[in-house]
Parts: sequence; C-alpha cells; structure tokens
Amino acid sequence: MKNKNCESCMMPFAKDPGVRESEKSCSYCFNNGKLCYEGNDLKVFQEASYDAMVKKGMNKYKAKFFTFLIRFAPRWKK
Ligand SMILES: [Zn+2]
Repeated sequence: MKNKNCESCMMPFAKDPGVRESEKSCSYCFNNGKLCYEGNDLKVFQEASYDAMVKKGMNKYKAKFFTFLIRFAPRWKK
C-alpha cells in the first residue's frame, strides 16, 4: 500500500505543490536526493516546518495546527 501522506510532516501528497522525489516524503521534506532535516528531534523539525509555512504566507493558526499534527507522522512515532 502506498502512503498518501508525507511520513515526516503528514502533508497529503495531493496538496504537495512540488515534484516529489520520494515515495515516502513530500517535496519539502525530501529534495535534491535527501531529507531536508535528517535529525530526529521532533521539536526542531516542527519549528522549521512552522517557519516555512508562515513564510509561504500561511495563516499562523493554520500553521500551528499543521505543526501540531506533525507529531503523529510515522517518522516520529516512538
Ligand atoms: Zn513532508
């Protein structure tokens, strides 16, 4: 079964505006052949994602909500 959401940030692939290079990750999390954030600190990743979303012009409340959802992504499950 194929993933429908990015395993790092939970973004639905259907909403990915970029060109995906990986089966498991969206074009934000994985590009130029590697993960943009290779560490495993959820907090650092969430902060970077939040900043990126706000920079793209997303409403801050929406960005906060999506940032919250990241913790449920397969990559961060312990
Ligand atoms: Zn992603």
